[in-house]
Amino acid sequence: MAKLNSAVNQDSSAYAPTTDAVGSGGENNDLSEAIGRLEEENKSIVAALAKLEQESNILRELFNSANNELDNLKKPSLLVAEVVSVHDDKAVIKLPNGNKFYCYIAQQVKDLRSGDAALVDQKSLNIVEKFEAQDHFEVEKFVIVEKPRESWDSIGGLKEVIREVKEVIELPLKKPALFERVGIKPPKGILLHGPPGTGKTLLAKAVAKSTDTTFIEVVGSELVQKFIGEGAKLVKDIFALARRKAPSIVFIDEIDALAAKRIETGTSGEREVSRTFMQLLAEIDGFKHLDNVKIIAATNRLDILDNAIIRPGRLDRLIEVNLPDEEGRLEILKVHTVNMNFKKVKLKEITAQMQDFSGAEIQAVCTEAGYFAIRNEREYVTHEDFLKAVEKVRIGMYAEDEAEERLYG
Ligand code: ATP
Repeated sequence: MAKLNSAVNQDSSAYAPTTDAVGSGGENNDLSEAIGRLEEENKSIVAALAKLEQESNILRELFNSANNELDNLKKPSLLVAEVVSVHDDKAVIKLPNGNKFYCYIAQQVKDLRSGDAALVDQKSLNIVEKFEAQDHFEVEKFVIVEKPRESWDSIGGLKEVIREVKEVIELPLKKPALFERVGIKPPKGILLHGPPGTGKTLLAKAVAKSTDTTFIEVVGSELVQKFIGEGAKLVKDIFALARRKAPSIVFIDEIDALAAKRIETGTSGEREVSRTFMQLLAEIDGFKHLDNVKIIAATNRLDILDNAIIRPGRLDRLIEVNLPDEEGRLEILKVHTVNMNFKKVKLKEITAQMQDFSGAEIQAVCTEAGYFAIRNEREYVTHEDFLKAVEKVRIGMYAEDEAEERLYG
C-alpha cells in the first residue's frame, strides 16, 4: 500500500504544476497579447499601405496627365483648312485667308474628300489629320431654327402677296406631284422686297407654319460681320442643316448685306463677303426645284442687289411687300386689337390717321394705346388712347427719318 501511495505521489508530482510552469503561463499570456498587438499594428500598417498605394496611384495619374498636358502645350497648333480637291496622296487646300496650296496628305489620313475640313501643319502645310467637326451642332447655335406659330390669320391685308407666296412656296411643298404632272419647275425661292416692318418675316413664318416645315432664319448682315472668315462655311452648313431638317425654309433677312452690287476694292473684308455670296449662289444652284428646301430672302434695298441672285433658276420670283393702303391698315389694326379690351373705339377713324404707317408701326400704336390706359389705371383702351398713341408713334417715325437723313444725307 505504502508502495502504491508513493507511486501515486510520484505520478501526481509528475503532473503537479511547478512554480516554473506557472511563470511560463504568464509569459505565454504576455506573448499572445504582444502578438495580438503586433497583428493589430500589422493590420493598420497594411491598411495604411493600401491607402498610400491608392494615393500614390492618384498622384501618378495626376503627374501623367500634367505631363501629357505639358507635352500637348509644347506641340505647335495645326491650321484648319478646307480641302478643295484630292489628287492621290496630294490635295489642294484652301486656308481661311483664301490662299490655296498643293500639299501632301499624311498616310494615316483616310477617305479625304473635297469639301472636308483638314488639319494642316503650320510650317509645311501638309495634311496631318482629317477634321471631323460636329458642324450640325455648331451651326444650330448661329441660326434660329424653329417651327413658327404665326398663321396666315395673323397677317392683315397683303392678300395678293399671300396668294403669290402660297402659289410659289406652299403649293410645291404640299403638292410636288402636281408640278411634275404639269411639267413645270416652281421657283427655288422668292425675294420679298419692300420697306421695313411691312410683314416680310411674318409672311415667311406663316408659310413655314402652313406647310409644317422647319424655319431656319439667318440675317445677312450677321453672316458677314459676326463670322469673319467663316461666312462661306456657315452658308454651306446652313444649307446642309436645311437638307437634314427638310422639309424646310431658309429665310435670309437683309440679303443685301451679302448680295449687294459692289465695286471691287480688293480688301480682305470685301473678298470675304464675296466668298460668302459665291457660296450662297453655289448652294442655290446645288439643289433642285422640287427639293423640299425653299429659300425666302428679304430686303429693303432691291436697288442695290447684285443681279446674280435674281437670275432665272435662283431667287427669280420677286414679290413686293409694300406699305399697306387704308383697307390693309384696317385689317392689320384688327389683327392687333383682337385681344384688346377697348370701349367705343372707331377703328376706321384711327386707320385714317395712320397714313404711311407700316404693319410694325400699327402694332406699336396698339401697344402704346394699351400703355396710355395702364398709366390712367384703366383696364380698357379708349379712342383717345389710340389717337394719342398714333401721334406718339408718328413723332418717333419723324425722329427716325431725320436721323437717317443726317446719316445718309
Ligand atoms: P424688316 O424689313 O425690318 O425686317 P419685315 O418686313 O420683315 O421688316 P416683320 O418683321 O414681318 O417686317 O414685321 C414686324 C412686325 O410688324 C410683325 O411682327 C407684326 O407684328 C407687324 N406686322 C407687319 N406687317 C404686318 C401685317 N401685314 N399684318 C400684321 N402684322 C404686321
